[in-house]
Amino acid sequence: MADSIIERLRAGGKKLTKARRAILEALERSSVPITAGELHARLRKVRVPIDLVTVYRNLGMLQKLGLVTAVGLHDGQMRYEVRHGREHHHHIQCRGCGKIVDLMLCPIKKLTAVVEAKTKFAVESHTLEFFGWCPQCR
Ligand SMILES: [Zn+2]
Ligand SMILES: [Zn+2]
Ligand SMILES: [Zn+2]
Repeated sequence: MADSIIERLRAGGKKLTKARRAILEALERSSVPITAGELHARLRKVRVPIDLVTVYRNLGMLQKLGLVTAVGLHDGQMRYEVRHGREHHHHIQCRGCGKIVDLMLCPIKKLTAVVEAKTKFAVESHTLEFFGWCPQCR
């Protein structure tokens, strides 16, 4: 586990408990965002005794500390992925089979300046997800 993660937790007054370590490791291993339910199932598979409520609570806390990002896709379920150490990016999801692919690009940076100029808001974040049909489903 990276020192910077432990530092970020400590700065937020949190410790790297066994459960939190397991959550972060399971998310690290996943190349695409997963739901809290999927995360819970993976933790059970590696015999981490943790209930779903605790998974949700820790995901919320890790999100607040900026270690995890929540991604909302078209099925209405929140999915989570590691943010720390990964570049900001967007996703595309297949409407047929649900497959998710990372898009390692952000077309929003220029638009942010326009939004800030127009609204006088200081933009902190944005969401943008793409939906369509994957090569197997189209
Ligand atoms: Zn598909
Ligand atoms: Zn991603
Ligand atoms: Zn972006």
